[in-house]
Amino acid sequence: MNKEYSMVRKEALMKGPLEALFCCIGDPVVGNPTQLMMEATFEAMNFPARYLTCTVDSSQVKEAIEGMKALQFSGGNVTAPHKVSVIPFLDDLSESARLSQAVNCIIVKEGRYIGDNTDGKGFLRAIEEIKSVEGMRVLVLGAGGAARAIITELALHKASSITIANRTLSHAQQIIDQIGSSVSTTLTAQPFVEPFTIDSGYDLVVQATSVGLFKPEERLDLIWEKQNNKEKTIAADVVFNPVETRFLIEAEQEGTIPVDGLGMLVFQGAIAVDQWTGQVADTVSMREALLEAFEL
Ligand code: NDP
Repeated sequence: MNKEYSMVRKEALMKGPLEALFCCIGDPVVGNPTQLMMEATFEAMNFPARYLTCTVDSSQVKEAIEGMKALQFSGGNVTAPHKVSVIPFLDDLSESARLSQAVNCIIVKEGRYIGDNTDGKGFLRAIEEIKSVEGMRVLVLGAGGAARAIITELALHKASSITIANRTLSHAQQIIDQIGSSVSTTLTAQPFVEPFTIDSGYDLVVQATSVGLFKPEERLDLIWEKQNNKEKTIAADVVFNPVETRFLIEAEQEGTIPVDGLGMLVFQGAIAVDQWTGQVADTVSMREALLEAFEL
C-alpha cells in the first residue's frame, strides 16, 4: 500500500468520516478475485474503504443483508448462488436487475439497498469500446445468468436481433418469455448442438456458456461460416480465466475481432465503484490486479 493511501485511511479512522465498507457475498467465494480488484482501484483513487469477501450460506441471505444494513455498509456485490435469492431482501431494483431478475451489485441510496445488475452493463461497455451495439445482429451461445444479463443490456441498448443458442432450449425460451415483451429487439431461441455452425451475418457473437472456465483446453465445437459483413464480426467471451480462451483463439483465426472476458469483469466492477463513490474507477489498476491474482 502506498504511503499516501495509508495516511488517507488513518485520517479516516482518527478524524472521520470512517472508511466506507463493501463486501462480496456468495458461496463459495474462495477464488473470487473481486476484492483484489476493488482494493486496487480504491487505492488508485485514494478512496478510504475496506472490501471484504464473505461466505454466506443460502439459508442466511436475509440475515446477511440485514447485517450489511446494521453495519452501514455502503454497497456490495452478490455472486453465485445468491444473485436471484437476494432479491426479496432488497428495497428496490434497477431496470437491468428487474428485467434480468438477477442482482450482482447493491447500491445504497439514502439508506435504501437497491439491487443492480452491472454484468450486462460491463459487457456492453467492453463492446462499445469498439462499436455501438445499436442495430447489431447478435448470436449468444448460452442462456445462464451471464447470458441473461448480457441479452437484457443488449436489448435495452437496441440491438436489432438476438439469437440465443443453448443446449437446453427451454432456458433460452425462458429469457425470451421474461424480457421479450419489454424490448423492441427481435429475440429467437435455437437449440445448441455440436458441431454448431455460426451463420455469416452476425455483427457480434458472444460465448456466454461456462465452457473453458479454468480449463484452457475446453472448447465448444464451432464451425464459422465465412463472415461476409462489411465490418468485422466481434467475438466476445465471458470466460475470464484463462483470458485467452480456445473460443477467442479460434474466432480470431476466422477473422473476427476478439474481446476477452476480463473487460466485462473489470467494467462491471468499475460501474459499481462509480455508483458507490461518485468518482471514476481506475480500470487500469483493476485489470492489473486481476491478472496478478490469476497467476496464483
Ligand atoms: P450458468 O451456470 O448460469 O450458465 C451456464 C451456461 O453454460 C448455460 O447456458 C449452460 O447450458 C451452458 N453450458 C454449460 N456447459 C455446457 C456445455 N458443455 N456445452 C454447452 N453449453 C454449456 O453460469 P453463468 O451464466 O453464471 O456463467 C457463465 C460463465 O460466465 C462462467 O464462466 C462465468 O465465470 C462467466 N461470467 C463472467 C463474467 C465476467 O465479468 N466476465 C460475469 C459473470 C459470469 P444449459 O442451460 O443447457 O445448462
